[in-house]
Amino acid sequence: MAGSLDGKVGLIVGVANKRSIAWAIAQAAAREGATLILTYQDRFAEHLQDLAATLTPAPQLLPCDVQDDAQIDAVFAAIGAAHGGLDFVVHGAAFAPREELSTGFTNTTREGFRVALDISAYSLVALARGARPLMEPRGGGSILTLSYLGATRVFPNYNVMGVAKAALESTVRYLAADLGPQNIRVNAVSAGPIKTLAAAGIGGFSTILGVVREKAPLRRTVEASEVAESSLFLLGPASSGITGEVLMVDSGYHAVGM
Ligand code: NAD
Repeated sequence: MAGSLDGKVGLIVGVANKRSIAWAIAQAAAREGATLILTYQDRFAEHLQDLAATLTPAPQLLPCDVQDDAQIDAVFAAIGAAHGGLDFVVHGAAFAPREELSTGFTNTTREGFRVALDISAYSLVALARGARPLMEPRGGGSILTLSYLGATRVFPNYNVMGVAKAALESTVRYLAADLGPQNIRVNAVSAGPIKTLAAAGIGGFSTILGVVREKAPLRRTVEASEVAESSLFLLGPASSGITGEVLMVDSGYHAVGM
């Protein structure tokens, strides 16, 4: 049976290990026929090689710190040289210094704020700018990022990451408006809480998981694989009329008042 991403070339940014949401998306996208390029931060290089070896066809692996414009340029140059174009981008990079995620929000430092917004929100602009010239000749493309309900509601210790996610969701809308005329769609999946490396940095994260299990309409947390299947929808042809959207994949937790 034909896969929903057959013949598509996709860049996935944000795989650190096998628990990464971006890794679940990479597995699902490869299953659906996509040829992938995965980027990694240097400290995860070894993990990435092991994981990538389990995908068919083997993905192209490229180093990329999203704070480094030269590395971002090199990624798109390498994709252009190897594949001649690009159909989708998954942006799953986020970071805030650990000390910012276990203090009162009023104590947020100028530097912590800058770093969190740069890595977690501005990077989407930089990646979209690099992707555009590779997507235009293919007749358009799909850009997807990962957000969290902390963008619009307050969660204990999520702090500056919540501010970064609010900026990220606004960035989705502004990019959607700017790139829509080129048929490049830009959307977000807002995932419910999942135990990953990034989540481990948030003080009291297991309390958030417990509240979701108790209160969400589905009475459980979501799996990374469920976020991945919904991401496929936004990456592929079934969502051709959707852009500037934040799709909640959170067992319905966002819908309840208490
Ligand atoms: P993760 O730790 O597996 O992924 C975070 C990724 O960000 C890592 O791959 C890391 O290498 C990358 N990253 C950090 N700084 C970077 C930099 N300077 N340059 C390049 N990459 C950098 O954790 P995850 O939970 O899979 O996170 C993926 C995305 O999903 C993040 O945007 C996160 O905020 C979002 N999200 C996570 C949850 C959750 O509960 N885990 C919920 C909603 C949204």
